[in-house]
Amino acid sequence: MYTDQDFDQLTSERPTSAGRSPEQVLHEVFGYEAFRPLQGDIVNEVVSGGDALVLMPTGGGKSLCYQVPALVRPGTAVVVSPLIALMQDQVAALRELGVKAAFLNSTMDYEQARATEYALATGELDLLYCAPERLIQPRTIELLHNASLSLFAIDEAHCVSQWGHDFRSDYLQLSMLASEFPGIPRIALTATADERTRKEIAERLSLTRARHFISGFDRPNIQYRITPKTNANKQLLDFIHAEHQEDCGIVYCLSRNKVDATARLLSSKGYTALPYHAGLSAEERARNQERFLREDGVIVVATIAFGMGIDKPDVRFVAHLDLPKSLEAYYQETGRAGRDGKPSTAWMVYGLQDVIKLRQMLEASQGNDQFKRVERQKLDAMLGLCEVTQCRRQVLLNYFGDSLEAPCGNCDTCLTPPETWDGTVAVQKALSCVYRTGQRFGVSYVIDVLRGSENERILQSGHQAITTYGIGQELSANEWKSVFRQLVANGYLRADPEGYGALQLTERCRPLLKGEQAIELRKDPVARKGAGAKSSGGRRSGQDVRDQITDHAGWDALRACRKALADKQGVPPYVIFHDTTLFAMLERRPATREELAEVSGVGAAKLEKYGDVFLETLRSLSPEA
Ligand code: ADP
Ligand code: ZN
Repeated sequence: MYTDQDFDQLTSERPTSAGRSPEQVLHEVFGYEAFRPLQGDIVNEVVSGGDALVLMPTGGGKSLCYQVPALVRPGTAVVVSPLIALMQDQVAALRELGVKAAFLNSTMDYEQARATEYALATGELDLLYCAPERLIQPRTIELLHNASLSLFAIDEAHCVSQWGHDFRSDYLQLSMLASEFPGIPRIALTATADERTRKEIAERLSLTRARHFISGFDRPNIQYRITPKTNANKQLLDFIHAEHQEDCGIVYCLSRNKVDATARLLSSKGYTALPYHAGLSAEERARNQERFLREDGVIVVATIAFGMGIDKPDVRFVAHLDLPKSLEAYYQETGRAGRDGKPSTAWMVYGLQDVIKLRQMLEASQGNDQFKRVERQKLDAMLGLCEVTQCRRQVLLNYFGDSLEAPCGNCDTCLTPPETWDGTVAVQKALSCVYRTGQRFGVSYVIDVLRGSENERILQSGHQAITTYGIGQELSANEWKSVFRQLVANGYLRADPEGYGALQLTERCRPLLKGEQAIELRKDPVARKGAGAKSSGGRRSGQDVRDQITDHAGWDALRACRKALADKQGVPPYVIFHDTTLFAMLERRPATREELAEVSGVGAAKLEKYGDVFLETLRSLSPEA
């Protein structure tokens, strides 16, 4: 994985790039035209020695914010990254660019670690990636004191937050970097942080003087869709079949069993679907992740154990079969789609049982009252997004303190606006039926009573004699489920955590029961045959990636060329060139090295290494029609 030869290659390449401007580094090393908005400001801040706290959505381009300063400032940049498994690919990608990068973590043997430490001490590294637990060891700190350092970058900085979903205790100790290395600029980066978490990051990492850079949260190429669950498996198969037949994607489930079952289901339909969860052996997880990164069209079915730090650019869909616990989690998980900026789908089904299950899990969880209160607010916000009748993107962005003037035109509520109906009377019936049956029963039972069912349990309990028995015949069982789902989601009813989901009234429903408040409910869309809202309807959405390619033979040839190079080097194909770069090659048909250098994503090192092979492949293609 990290051989002596690598090391030789690493130390024999170009001299350090100190003395170049950020723009030069961007152009020559990374092959990009210009900084994205904010990137330039952040880079300048760090280059000039300031601290920075960067909040940018996934795919926004956080890495360049520290990689460019690392190449501009003299010394080695130390990058703290929580996921060992991914350091290797990040370092491989940098080396492809001719950057002298290495990592220190527990997977290396003594010899390898010593070689890297030596390179650090002798100033031969541009960037050193380091796991947090490794960094905080006294031995590492001493090594760093003896090295010349350019900056510290703390990636996935929200891991310091105890309220967050990725808390890592090692991150808390990173605050000592401030006192140990007072003169070295530090930059903390994250994709998910509300204002409270942001404050926490600044405090816990002693980044009190850092400038905050908060980039817009919108991911316009992602189409958000949330659909009531009817038959989840069938809905998932229909969705993938209709819209993402050959695409790479991620399907999230809550439990390991469901992950395994869903992966089997997809495999039985001919998809390459691999499970990923904490119950699998480390080898199997690593193997499945590896295939996801390196092969085309692989679907990973996973618990939330999968995904942090995955920077595969061409994930075309993220599907949720279960509801995430918070909008932070939802935004982060869906954010793994479409990092390359091409149209992608965030698709989710959710139902009453999900709502009940999550509410119960929350109430039954360990944790003090304050913790639960925060978690409850987060879940409420998540459920709010599900039930909303206006633009989902506006709600989502608003939650993160960002805003969007007009409805987005690329979410399901914009594409097919949901109908609403006056649910005041139905809700009164529902609530009073819960009350009359003693707040001791779950949803199905209460619906049976409302619809006047004559089942055994009802007859035994004598509930056919109460006033709410049979008063709800005007709605079907499914329609009632939708009513109850919205009532639980909006906090009018709660599911007793100990009482097998018995529904109970909350304080909030008093005015509804008394008839003092009207309520509009969302009408669940009737399942249509075939596909859902396909992206083409959206104002913002472009076409499917493959639809844009006219020269399929050329595209295949370029991809085959890339795959051969990737396999030879043992790296994922996108480390050689992204799809977007191959697209540009196919369109512009560069014939010379100079022309090829103008294609976005082709920097000096890649031009040198792969330029001729790709030019050769391009020459061999039939002339463009
Ligand atoms: P993040 O870490 O914020 O999720 P990355 O740093 O992985 O995002 O960047 C996302 C993608 O955008 C990468 O493919 C990266 O190469 C590309 N990218 C970043 N900055 C630029 C830029 N200035 N010009 C062109 N592409 C860029
Ligand atoms: Zn919208």
